[in-house]
Amino acid sequence: MKIGLFFGSFNPIHIGHLIIANYMANHTDLDQVWLVVSPHNPLKEKGDLINMYDRLEMSKLATEDASNIRVSDVELKLPQPSYTIDTLTHLHEKYPEHKFSLIMGSDNLVSLKKWKNYELILRDYQIHVYPRPGFENAELLNHPSVHVTDTPLMELSATFIRKAVKEKKNVQFFVEDKVLRFIESKNLYR
Ligand code: ATP
Repeated sequence: MKIGLFFGSFNPIHIGHLIIANYMANHTDLDQVWLVVSPHNPLKEKGDLINMYDRLEMSKLATEDASNIRVSDVELKLPQPSYTIDTLTHLHEKYPEHKFSLIMGSDNLVSLKKWKNYELILRDYQIHVYPRPGFENAELLNHPSVHVTDTPLMELSATFIRKAVKEKKNVQFFVEDKVLRFIESKNLYR
């Protein structure tokens, strides 16, 4: 199977993520999308990152009715921090029957050159890109491994949701109902 990997901290998973995952899983030649929950992105501040098991659980709740979207806990079991190339190599060895590719925004494509062994990533893996405003001319967009899609986007961030929850504002529709109930029941982001 052709599997697109969408990495994120998913702190929490929101409909911006789900639109991308669903589009890639159903409107491209990918057979499945796996959401890979990252314990901690080495390029980001830790800030109000909640524990990875709760983020994993919310990602599963949000996608349990989506037949071709799965949640992967592979990075939770690898030595941390796990760089993308190491996770890709691990998955490639563990599932030789699958062909893995990456899903990322054109904004991430700009910082790709800072990633560990980025030349190997570009050499060995396809990258499905969703366009982000302001990054229409990113350098690597014309690279042969890069496939640019016309994914419709929702301007929303997990930061916005965490702040809203903290301020006791209503975030219904920004996150799946099951995720909202999970956040409330565990009193997360307060
Ligand atoms: P935070 O606000 O905590 O930084 P985030 O919403 O950007 O989080 P991540 O879990 O880091 O979420 O997202 C995973 C990937 O999805 C990142 O590459 C991020 O750029 C991208 N992404 C997040 N939200 C959107 C969105 N609304 N539209 C397009 N891409 C998004």
